[in-house]
Amino acid sequence: MIPQARPDRAGERPHNNLLRRLNESDFALIAPHLTQGHCAPDDLLYDPGDDVDTVHFPCGASLASYLVPNEEGRDVETILVGREGAVGGIVSLGYLPAYTRITVKFGGTFMHLPINKLEAAKSNSRSLRNVFARYADCLLAQVFQSTACNAIHSIEQRTAKWIMSAMERNEDSNIVPLTHEQLSTLLGVGRSYASRVIQTFKAEGLVETRRGSILVRDPDRLKIRACLCNESVKNHFEEVLRGVYPSDPTADS
Ligand SMILES: [Zn+2]
Repeated sequence: MIPQARPDRAGERPHNNLLRRLNESDFALIAPHLTQGHCAPDDLLYDPGDDVDTVHFPCGASLASYLVPNEEGRDVETILVGREGAVGGIVSLGYLPAYTRITVKFGGTFMHLPINKLEAAKSNSRSLRNVFARYADCLLAQVFQSTACNAIHSIEQRTAKWIMSAMERNEDSNIVPLTHEQLSTLLGVGRSYASRVIQTFKAEGLVETRRGSILVRDPDRLKIRACLCNESVKNHFEEVLRGVYPSDPTADS
């Protein structure tokens, strides 16, 4: 994690939808304490047991992931958080040990905010408290959905879902910087299994593979292969925090 500076221009909000959702006075409460940094893929934000003292807001196409280590020494991905949200102290309000490992999945800009500054701002503003409480509810919905998804949906459906989910964060292109290794962690399966699924999608003309990334050739058909878990989560975001979840690139505008 490379700390940099405050947001470049005063008045210009960072490209994080949760921060952009705040009203002017709420944003003004936290803006002086936000710092901008660049995180690289696989940077560690929290390990289980770490004191949670900072909220990290992914910006643009940056993506963080919650991983649960298990007894075999393999991390299994539970949910991805992009610019629709934040990681660290969202539910606990901070100062408790982290339960999961949180790492950077797609590198890029992140905004960092000390938990004590966020908590002080929340105690001064009911509307700020409300936005973060609503976000915590959406985060929990994502976790519930992920549990159900892992239990009942096929590896193929989940692969298509993850690729679509990652592509939604990347506004400008159909390239998803996801390696087979990362995909196998996302799915909780061996690398060769993940590669087989990608080969199937490739043979059907849905994707192409590039070095360290996947190019989506046919988002509409890939979406049909995905389960509807992303849609369920997005619908909940739309009810609870309208406009915060990144839009679907294949949806009619
Ligand atoms: Zn699913």
